[in-house]
Amino acid sequence: MDCQVIIVGAGPAGIFAALTLADCGIGSVLLLEQGKDLSQRKRLNSDDMLCGWGGAGAYSDGKLTLSSEVGGFLGEFLEQKSLYQLLGRADEIYVAHGAPGRVFGEASPKLEDLADRARLAGLELIPTRIRHIGTENCRAVLDRLRQSLVGGVETRTNCRVQNLLSENGRIRGVKLANGKIITSPFVVVAPGRSGASWMKKQAESLGLKTKASPVDIGVRVELPAPVLKGITDTIYESKLIHYSKTFHDKVRTFCMNPYGEVVIEKNEGIITVNGHSYAKKKSENTNFAILVSSAFTEPFDDPIAYGFYIARLANLLGGGAIIQRLGDLLAGRRSTRARIDRCLTRPTLPDATPGDLSFIFPYRHLLSIIEMLGALEKLTPGVYSRHTLLYGVEVKFYSNRIELSPELETNVTNLFAIGDGAGITRGLLQASASGMLAGRAIAERLV
Ligand SMILES: Cc1cc2nc3c(=O)[nH]c(=O)nc-3n(C[C@H](O)[C@H](O)[C@H](O)COP(=O)(O)OP(=O)(O)OC[C@H]3O[C@@H](n4cnc5c(N)ncnc54)[C@H](O)[C@@H]3O)c2cc1C
Repeated sequence: MDCQVIIVGAGPAGIFAALTLADCGIGSVLLLEQGKDLSQRKRLNSDDMLCGWGGAGAYSDGKLTLSSEVGGFLGEFLEQKSLYQLLGRADEIYVAHGAPGRVFGEASPKLEDLADRARLAGLELIPTRIRHIGTENCRAVLDRLRQSLVGGVETRTNCRVQNLLSENGRIRGVKLANGKIITSPFVVVAPGRSGASWMKKQAESLGLKTKASPVDIGVRVELPAPVLKGITDTIYESKLIHYSKTFHDKVRTFCMNPYGEVVIEKNEGIITVNGHSYAKKKSENTNFAILVSSAFTEPFDDPIAYGFYIARLANLLGGGAIIQRLGDLLAGRRSTRARIDRCLTRPTLPDATPGDLSFIFPYRHLLSIIEMLGALEKLTPGVYSRHTLLYGVEVKFYSNRIELSPELETNVTNLFAIGDGAGITRGLLQASASGMLAGRAIAERLV
């Protein structure tokens, strides 16, 4: 065997698996990453946004969600108390590597009042405690984590794994894109959401049991920061759920970025939108996503393909991301450059093409988004303004959920699947915690 453990993907899940194995004294761990090393990644290069050392975490907003209910499903593998301890330990590691001390969203009368007002508006507020690293600090924190990975961990970047290799129901290594085979008794796969399609193919060829996850499709909303100040000052990010009036679909706010920026994301050749915010540098706007969850059963059960289809349609019509004023959408007309120039909300993603989102979204999604904006208007007036900007499309490609043991092992012996790519997490802290869980299980078997 060439090494004791191979880890595929150097995002938070893979990094924390490597840290844990190194801490447990495992002497020969190979961390393989298809993208560039951290120091070579450039934010403005869309290929580097999701891939490279640090994974999607490198340019994320760096919100560590200190909750067992948000950011993943690890609660299905661990008892609540153990999960809190694990998340707490992962959080401590981030703080030891430079994450700030302040935590938003602690229980308070203001928070209770917000939850009450949300209920009156037809919204459910999910209270979450959040530590905000901020985009500009994520890199520094990751850099310190990179320096901690000494000893037995060897990192190889620009090194794409093409296939996972198994024999008689047991993992035996990986085949790289350059054809080279590396053997190992343990493999941990952590390919993230950008590796969802790759993971799906690997699962099919290895006979891993999987379950399709719903796909979340929607828009990125941008408005002047004062509109949401009452909320963002209290809890930084509000996770609000609404069941739309017409279709009774679950619609939610996601990834709220006070004083942040809207950005584009490139994933397997398609362009979608996202958002982030810096800890210090402030824009005048706040952005957040409104996402509609859709699940499929039969004969079609490929939500990833559905999400790609909608995103491709937006790219076909707009050449990339599309921007529209809410006022134009409601008036049944496209936004033009001149109309955007007259908009009181100044876009932080000026390159988006002014267009008409009603040509892209199915009626069901569009109406659910508009109804959600209406509910938010009751909670915080100003959201439903004609000057509110909508960017499309935002799609969350959640990987198919792989059937896993409580130690996150697949039905192929010694093959572990962690993080967003395994479909079991959706955020930095739970992804990191999943790496620790698998790392501990492997270390116990090796020592
Ligand atoms: C713009 C943006 C903002 C975000 N903000 C937040 C936030 O504030 N808070 C939060 O909790 N979450 C946030 N997220 C989500 C968060 O980044 C992810 O949940 C987290 O990074 C998942 O970690 P992961 O290790 O599972 O996967 P990833 O971080 O996606 O890492 C997977 C890595 O595996 C590599 N890989 C894939 N396939 C292969 C292969 N075949 N061979 C070799 N390498 C491979 C990829 O290149 C990638 O680097 C944000 C995401 C984005 C894009």
